[in-house]
Amino acid sequence: MTDVNLQQFERAQRVIPGGVNSPVRAYGSVGGTPRFLVSARGPYVTDAEGREYVDLVASWGPAILGHAHPAVVEAVQQAAARGLSFGASTPAETELAEAVIGRVPFVEKLRLVSTGTEATMSAIRLARGFTGRPLLIKFAGHYHGHSDSLLAEAGSGLATLALPGSAGVTEATAAQTIVLPYNDLDAVRAVFEAQGPDIAAVITEAAAANMGVVAPEDGFNAALADLAHEFGALLILDEVLTGFRVGPAGYWGLDRGYTPDLVTFGKVIGGGMPLAALGGRAELMDFLAPAGPVYQAGTLSGNPVAVAAGLATLANADAAVYARLDEVAATLSSGVSDALGAAGVAHRVQRAGNLFSFVFGDYPHAPRTYAEVQRQEAYRYRAFFHAMLDQGVSLPPSVFEAWFVTAAHDDAAVARILDAAPAAARAAAA
Ligand code: PLP
Repeated sequence: MTDVNLQQFERAQRVIPGGVNSPVRAYGSVGGTPRFLVSARGPYVTDAEGREYVDLVASWGPAILGHAHPAVVEAVQQAAARGLSFGASTPAETELAEAVIGRVPFVEKLRLVSTGTEATMSAIRLARGFTGRPLLIKFAGHYHGHSDSLLAEAGSGLATLALPGSAGVTEATAAQTIVLPYNDLDAVRAVFEAQGPDIAAVITEAAAANMGVVAPEDGFNAALADLAHEFGALLILDEVLTGFRVGPAGYWGLDRGYTPDLVTFGKVIGGGMPLAALGGRAELMDFLAPAGPVYQAGTLSGNPVAVAAGLATLANADAAVYARLDEVAATLSSGVSDALGAAGVAHRVQRAGNLFSFVFGDYPHAPRTYAEVQRQEAYRYRAFFHAMLDQGVSLPPSVFEAWFVTAAHDDAAVARILDAAPAAARAAAA
């Protein structure tokens, strides 16, 4: 037990609900005392006691270059020195929009916001405003942030806490979201056939990674685009987590062969600062105010310090970075899987690009839906997580989250994780 972390947690609980500013940070599903972090560099984070951990959370995705990458820190320092926020347009915002459009060709225009939640919420309002239709289809286990209409059967913290939704969301709002099983095109077609004229959009994670990782089946995203278009609805591809992480053009870049109407980005696009975006073809994006009738705004939207971090991150995310992310993901997923196998722990490795996670239990085939991943022996992860933490490896504190690698995970960091895995696997076996 770490006394300084415990003291910090107790102190925080007196003034912050649950002691945290985002639920998964509370270690609710793995138990124990959350580590309070004071610094991070490369693949490492350091807690309030001065203990260093190899990190596989990466701020839940943004840190693809590793923590406090010198080029990103320098860009942020320079931008900060020029002014923290102007509430007016800056040349750098246009540069960031151009950088995104250069990487993701179906995006013709981009609107910057501050969080992934705002990006998806605004994309849905835009879809409703453009189509004049009320209903939304989402998939069980997909997380798109915490706006009211998207909290039905969502992943991430709701999966961790086993919550079907959130108190405070009215029935009228919940009724406008139709939740379907992931990877089930028949279910999507049936709903379109029954209620097509009322459906504004289908929103899907480009690859699900908030119920653990569950990749779309081959052709699933393309078929969703076709179905939505057949019935006059839009496809919103949520790349908040996958965008610029699994490749320069996100998961769409691995998947291709279809054209989403709208896409949302977050995490990597802000390089660790509060920045996210929605984009799509010009005709649609021009429905946003002030060009069009769908209102969307933000005091800190396009914040110059955040934009500087995003630009520096994208500029440094070259082919070598993506090759390293893929290499680290392959080495870790197979090395940890070997350790689990050697300890006799039944499991499957779930992968989507360089995102991966483990499901615990005897699965005849890779789970494809939320119902299937929920059936796993989640308790095993609790023992596994703590045995890793005790050995100086910080994993996501929930089995329903992806493991996030960075390009700064060098061979020494990878070796530390793999050295810790056998003991953790034995703990998971118990
Ligand atoms: N969409 C996806 C796929 C996410 O993974 C997340 C956050 O994890 C969000 C949206 C919400 O982003 P934010 O936490 O920045 O509001």
